[in-house]
Amino acid sequence: MTAQDPGYTNSPQRQVGMEQDEKNNIDKQRAIMCRGGWFSRRDFIKGAGAAAAGVPIAMATSGLTGGLMDFSELDLAADDASAGGPNGNGFKRALVLYDGTGEFAWIGNVHAKQLANLIGRFLPTGARANNTVIKTVAEYTAGEMNQSQYTATFYLGQTYDNQLPTALRNDILATRKPFVFFKYNLWQIAWTPDFSADNATFVERFGFRWEGLHPGAGSTFSRVSYKGAEFAKSLLDAELGVTRVINAGQATVKAWSVDANNNEVPYIIHGRPANAIGPNGGLWYVADSPFSYMSEEDRYMVFSDVLFDMVGVTHAQTRRGLVRLEDVSAISNPAQLRACADYLSGRNAPFSIATIPIYNDPLGTWNGGVAERIPISRAATVKSAINYMRGRGGEVIMHGTTHQYQDVPNPYTGVSADDFEFFRVTENPDLSLTFHGPVPEDSRQWARGLLNNGIRELRRAGWGTPTTFEAPHYGMSEVDYLAVGGMFDWTYHRVLYFQDQSFVAERHAPTPGTTRQAEEGRRRRRERRIGNRNAGAAGGAGRAGAGTPGRGGNGGGGNGGAERAQAQAEPDKFAGQFFPYVIQRDVYRNKLLPENLNNIEPTGWPDPVEGPYMPRLPEALVRDATRNRVLRDAWASFYFHPFFDLSYLRETIEGIQDAGYEFQRASSVRS
Ligand SMILES: [Zn+2]
Repeated sequence: MTAQDPGYTNSPQRQVGMEQDEKNNIDKQRAIMCRGGWFSRRDFIKGAGAAAAGVPIAMATSGLTGGLMDFSELDLAADDASAGGPNGNGFKRALVLYDGTGEFAWIGNVHAKQLANLIGRFLPTGARANNTVIKTVAEYTAGEMNQSQYTATFYLGQTYDNQLPTALRNDILATRKPFVFFKYNLWQIAWTPDFSADNATFVERFGFRWEGLHPGAGSTFSRVSYKGAEFAKSLLDAELGVTRVINAGQATVKAWSVDANNNEVPYIIHGRPANAIGPNGGLWYVADSPFSYMSEEDRYMVFSDVLFDMVGVTHAQTRRGLVRLEDVSAISNPAQLRACADYLSGRNAPFSIATIPIYNDPLGTWNGGVAERIPISRAATVKSAINYMRGRGGEVIMHGTTHQYQDVPNPYTGVSADDFEFFRVTENPDLSLTFHGPVPEDSRQWARGLLNNGIRELRRAGWGTPTTFEAPHYGMSEVDYLAVGGMFDWTYHRVLYFQDQSFVAERHAPTPGTTRQAEEGRRRRRERRIGNRNAGAAGGAGRAGAGTPGRGGNGGGGNGGAERAQAQAEPDKFAGQFFPYVIQRDVYRNKLLPENLNNIEPTGWPDPVEGPYMPRLPEALVRDATRNRVLRDAWASFYFHPFFDLSYLRETIEGIQDAGYEFQRASSVRS
């Protein structure tokens, strides 16, 4: 494959171009922030929300700023995993650097955690914490990356033209160990200081050159080609750093970005100097941040696989599957549960039963206005159906305690499985959702108490102490995730990661010299952007309750909520992440089973922000699983609501099995 010249040169004029790019970039990142302020219904209710990137949330009155941990302390307190292990043959620890300055530095802060989570793949099975060291690039000290504790060092170039410390630039240029560089600022080492020419040392050592930044506007580089398979890249974040191979004996392209005319530029390139240590030594360059707008079918999956090569870990090809039956509670239909179990056991597919310990409908929404609360231990027919399922390969995992919050809609009905339990969410007139943050009483103690109620109830039903937890609607606060880590051996979901609170305090003060008017103008522009978009998108479409097709309800139009949401959307921010494989420990110290294919969604629905959503049918899950066969540690993990027609489950299971995946008993998965 040959790289096409995209027309970028390193002439001084390019500098002027970059200033314009920077403006575009800031506008774009602002758009990312605004977009996140309005989570779509489907994103969260259907579990895809934790895949969205760059998402601000509201602080509301939750006391979110108080008492949260500083993650740098957590990370440094982690176990010494230098022994390596079967998951990481020789892997010790990684150093992750990010830009600590600039308006959007928080994105780098969150992406650094997401990267540390993926690196958690390589920790020993017995690790108790994620030992990745995360710090800002300014905190880098000379020679640090060469310390023997580090297997590899990563730098997330997220803030355009953030100045890299001289010591870091020198160390990268001389590196013999793996150094992985993402997106912005490579020009500071690849070019001469006046940008008039290539830095000869760079090209000589790594065998490739930096060509420039594809600004993204008008880009059609929406595909990434990897090992013969084609993955996607969202054009909502279309920028790419463009490199070109100069010496094919030194530089290897691991994946290619592909545009509409089939032009290709390297997406991930590895330049290996003559004196590199090991096959993975030298400079790796990733053309964007793969954590931005990640999705089930996109280049995040490619990066996750190349990560093995970056840290020098070998892994024989495996293809494993997981299936979970979702939202099983005291009001589930026992016949449907038994039918799923019969089918799955006939296919030799063990499965998990995401069980809601206590069904609660405090407002009597589905009970003629009369409150109803049924612990699962007292729902005789469902209990016996679950016992039947357990005899056919089913394993009970805990899915919240009530999967709703108190006696209020949160956001929909107040009924179990419809609502969030650990996060406060309200619905806007245009059907979009506002995330207010943790519930007011949120604390580690509170979460523990609530979770203990659920655990007791599952024990009462005779199923022992649950070892695996799944958060309702995949949404919890930091302290809740930390609480879960101490109570369950495993988590089995997608996860939200928040910017450091210390980061908020230190780095979100107005920049010195910025006038109040400028801040105000920026705020207004941002609001206008949101307002305009929502004005066009709102509609009076009917809605389906979460996972409950056919339930009526009607939303009005209008965009009155836009400014309100924006007012609340500062200063805390988070992004969601799904996992392509088992993570031994994330930054919350949780072990994670992957869920990387989402779920079956027979009917689409209108979304006020994203527009109409297409249904997600078995063929889409099977297509993604088939594409992922090129990944070495490939998983096909999805969930299914048993009230849907069994044929959807059948088609998905058979398609995934035909693609060569073998379904696993979740409790037997170790790594
Ligand atoms: Zn659920």
